[in-house]
Amino acid sequence: MSGNHGVVYVGPGKVEVRSLAFPELAEPNGKKANHGVILRVVATNICGSDQHMVRGRTTAPAGLVLGHEITGEVIEVGSDVITLAKGDLVSVPFNVACGRCPMCKAQNTGVCLNVNPARPGGAYGYVDMGGWIGGQAEFVMIPYADFNLLKIPDRDRGMAKIRDPKCLSDILPTGYHGAVTAGVCPGSTVYVAGAGPVGLAAGASARLLGAAVVIVGDVNKARLDHARRVGFETVDLSEDATLSDQIAAILGEPEVDCAIDCVGFEARGHGHSGSQTEAPASVLNALMEVTRVAGKVGIPGLYVTDDPGAVDPAAKRGSLSVRLGLGWAKSHSFFTGQTPVMKYNRNLMQAILWDRLNIAEIVNVQVIALERAPEGYSQFDSGVPKKFVLDPHGLLNAA
Ligand code: NAD
Ligand code: ZN
Ligand code: ZN
Repeated sequence: MSGNHGVVYVGPGKVEVRSLAFPELAEPNGKKANHGVILRVVATNICGSDQHMVRGRTTAPAGLVLGHEITGEVIEVGSDVITLAKGDLVSVPFNVACGRCPMCKAQNTGVCLNVNPARPGGAYGYVDMGGWIGGQAEFVMIPYADFNLLKIPDRDRGMAKIRDPKCLSDILPTGYHGAVTAGVCPGSTVYVAGAGPVGLAAGASARLLGAAVVIVGDVNKARLDHARRVGFETVDLSEDATLSDQIAAILGEPEVDCAIDCVGFEARGHGHSGSQTEAPASVLNALMEVTRVAGKVGIPGLYVTDDPGAVDPAAKRGSLSVRLGLGWAKSHSFFTGQTPVMKYNRNLMQAILWDRLNIAEIVNVQVIALERAPEGYSQFDSGVPKKFVLDPHGLLNAA
């Protein structure tokens, strides 16, 4: 076994499947990684976060191997690994975390202090996240494997349901983190901005946490149709009626208890003409308007420090025109950042294995071969209501 192929970012709008080196048990700085394992990738998903890079909206360099949503089978075990063995089926949190630093010890694995010399926090296949090689590939190396990997306890049961567990590496914990930080509890009324995979996962998580009603908003009619099909109320921000009015038409009042931003900095404006253009602060400002006083706003949607394609010079540095005074006046709390996946993934796995959560159906998983990744990227970019999952070894279709 020596070959490997993976998805490489070539330049704005362009990815290619290229031949790659077979992974080694080594860190990006070349140091031996006896704490790591090598996985045969069983499933690896395309994410909205990848699209920010592929659209040229980050400083991602050409040649970056993409992929941070990985499920795999252990095929090689480093000498310091004690809890994993060849053949184990595992879900990989997208965060790379050392398990040794104060942040990891406090479960803040999204900002581990030891895996990225440039700033706290590491991830596979992502700009500014430490140089860890991405997993939209046939094989990938996972460091600090005892700490990072979630073993799916019953391999056969896991493979039989594999369409669901593969959402555990990112979108399901991310949606759940959004719902938890927004304070969702039994009886909450919830607004989720964005009907992409993360928004749908946040809606499903809010339901799991007992929300009375979940309203999902987008400017994309096909995605809103899908959101309704899987049981959510919807609001269409490409219509001229304001978000508050559309919420009032559903709830009888213009505010919700909890709000979750599953859009991020590439947000569109609202209304017929507004939705044709980008307005990076539109979701944050809308959420302050529709969240009740003393409410919480979960913000898994990504905001960047540098955006070469931004609409104005301030936004190029990640500075947005956010009406913080409104949030202050309403005593809002805001929760941002990379999701600490490990905080939630084991419980969410159990919810999946015990049939409490059909996440693959909710996000509309579409499995395609690794070679078809460029097509998956361009279809996802066009806004189809699907979550694309790459199947590098044909194992998903076989299952
Ligand atoms: P996506 O691009 O598929 O979905 C975003 C959706 O938002 C699109 O359907 C778009 O039409 C919609 N939208 C645009 N403007 C809107 C507005 N004003 N109001 C409502 N909807 C609007 O992306 P995704 O895969 O669902 O991910 C969503 C966001 O979450 C991305 O920014 C992604 O980078 C981020 N993310 C963050 C984490 C984390 O750890 N915090 C993890 C995964 C993804
Ligand atoms: Zn992701
Ligand atoms: Zn750490």
